[in-house]
Amino acid sequence: MTTQLQELLDSNRLWAAKTEQRSPGFFTGLLKQQAPQYLWIGCADSRVPANELVDLLPGELFVHRNVANVVVHSDLNCLSVIQFATDLLKVKHIIVVGHSHCGGVVAALNDVRVGLADNWIRHVRDVRNRHQEWLATLPAEQQVDALGELNVIEQAKNVCQTTVVQDTWARGQALVVHGWFYGLNNGLLRDLKITVPNAADMAGAFDEAIASLHARHALKTDSVRGSLSGPELAPALAPAFARGAPRQSR
Ligand SMILES: [Zn+2]
Repeated sequence: MTTQLQELLDSNRLWAAKTEQRSPGFFTGLLKQQAPQYLWIGCADSRVPANELVDLLPGELFVHRNVANVVVHSDLNCLSVIQFATDLLKVKHIIVVGHSHCGGVVAALNDVRVGLADNWIRHVRDVRNRHQEWLATLPAEQQVDALGELNVIEQAKNVCQTTVVQDTWARGQALVVHGWFYGLNNGLLRDLKITVPNAADMAGAFDEAIASLHARHALKTDSVRGSLSGPELAPALAPAFARGAPRQSR
């Protein structure tokens, strides 16, 4: 194994030269200030590069990423990013972005032990447990992304409930919280309809987003079931949590 990463350093030189050629003065311009309009809170997954997905340049997107895009009320790292973004950079939007086929969500759904990260993924398990009754009605193949979407909606609510965001709204500063979901299979972002422009709208937006999610998955489930017949129907309808232990104790 090489101890040098010369190829990455070479690529960086090439990228910097190309960027400067395309936009002369690009880097010296960035030195003066960063004035992003958006804070992106996404998964650390290497397949979900924030700036690239929305075609934004350095300086245009403030980014925080962790395993499974979790926003924990006591996570000083994430809270500090939110505070820096709202108080100092005055971003106008905070977007929580989950993605399909998320490893953290798969581990949470199926109680897979991955190590220390289990303690972090526990927050996604909490989301699963809160919605287990509904999740259990879905065909197994729909559950990972359904939980991923639920997780985005719940984490967006957590953003709204931070003292930082509550204070931002209380002083009349414009800030909208959003929840999106990225499809690894098609490169597209979907708006999960949790759009919160102030504290008063939070509960309504949350309920609306959950209702919209349920309706979309009901349609999907119907189409899956409609395409099946006879003995094929049974496995698709098998309760989601059949493979795990009963959830009551959690
Ligand atoms: Zn992920």
